[in-house]
Amino acid sequence: MPKDSPGFSTLAIHAGAQPDPTTGARTTPIYQTTSFVFNDADHAAALFGLQQFGNIYTRIMNPTQAVLEERVAALEGGTAALAVASGHAAQLLVFHTIMQPGDNFIAARRLYGGSINQFGHAFKNFGWQVRWADPADPANFESQIDERTRGIFIESLANPGGTFVDIAAIAEVARRHGIPLIVDNTMASPYLIRPLEHGADIVVHSLTKFMGGHGNSMGGIIVDGGTFDWSKSGNYPMLSEPRPEYAGMVLHATFGNFAFAIACRVLGLRDFGPSISPFNAFLLLTGIETLPLRMQRHCDNALAVAKWLKGNPQVAWVNYAGLEDDPNHALQQRYSPNGAGSVFTFGVKGGYEAGKKLVEGLQLFSHLANIGDTRSLVIHPASTTHRQLTEDQQTSAGAGPDVVRLSIGIEDAADIIADLEQSLGKL
Ligand SMILES: *Cc1c(COP(=O)(O)O)cnc(C)c1O
Repeated sequence: MPKDSPGFSTLAIHAGAQPDPTTGARTTPIYQTTSFVFNDADHAAALFGLQQFGNIYTRIMNPTQAVLEERVAALEGGTAALAVASGHAAQLLVFHTIMQPGDNFIAARRLYGGSINQFGHAFKNFGWQVRWADPADPANFESQIDERTRGIFIESLANPGGTFVDIAAIAEVARRHGIPLIVDNTMASPYLIRPLEHGADIVVHSLTKFMGGHGNSMGGIIVDGGTFDWSKSGNYPMLSEPRPEYAGMVLHATFGNFAFAIACRVLGLRDFGPSISPFNAFLLLTGIETLPLRMQRHCDNALAVAKWLKGNPQVAWVNYAGLEDDPNHALQQRYSPNGAGSVFTFGVKGGYEAGKKLVEGLQLFSHLANIGDTRSLVIHPASTTHRQLTEDQQTSAGAGPDVVRLSIGIEDAADIIADLEQSLGKL
């Protein structure tokens, strides 16, 4: 890339990639291999000891994966990244790196249903406690912080309701208490919001959604913002204390502003093993090349559909931050002026039964548990993604019994609206 600071669309296509030095292949090849040959015994020893960077075994790193990591780090403005098998794997490795048994973290109540399960149930087995906070007020995070709190976790644009969060205000709380702010940027993508610019320390993604964008591959990524001081408090021993498996190396002292990404790789990914396949990394890279085009179209279509639904007498309410009278509109304008994303919820008059019927009557929309596909998608969260939660938890997560969630695709807006119209007409 010729310029010092290329634009977002240029980075989406070029960051991290170059023609293959041996074959000239212009597209990043799929390095479909488990292992890599060492030059000699000293080279092998240096790689294993972290004295030299290089490929050893695809569980730990792979050249196709490396391009994906460099590209997403560039798009988010981070120092380094680690790509893994799924968004949930990314979250696991982040918390494994900052938590010890008995520690806690504060998470926004409005989250992807799977994250609520992971934090509330699976993480208990590691002795990690989650404390829930309503993200509408940063004070709700601050009031729950104690000496064992190791981080704050929020979604920049919260699933499933499509609500925006005041990232900078919550980052300020985290900074005051010397703990990192971790932001799940899946729903917004860096095209709409770059959380590191608003004070976040770590960004995670489910690449499965808008980043890949075509509903064909699972993937996740951790982006290191490079700003957090892991040594100051002594509360992050994985980073600030000598590692016995690496001859007493202190990761923060050795790797500085990308130590977090290294720790997630050499302590988390290495030992838990949720590596991304080179083929998925390739498909996700290809998807990311069109992220700016797709994301803008997603947002434009979603606004058109939300406006149409709002004017329909059979619709009880529409919750889309892109609508001027939406309570979330001011935050959307501040954090995401290019658009309000493509995932939002609405209620049909007639509640649970009407909502279910509407979903079943749709023909262009696919009824499934995903978001961020080129195709328009629909789901009834209370009976699917948020099913394991109590009704109280469902409602506070924005997934009450009458809620229908849409993920608006990049088809022609007129066809998306026509499908909703015919299904509503059958109620
Ligand atoms: C899908 C999703 C996840 C989990 O990602 P997977 O790739 O399915 O593991 C986490 N956060 C959000 C906001 C999601 O939409």
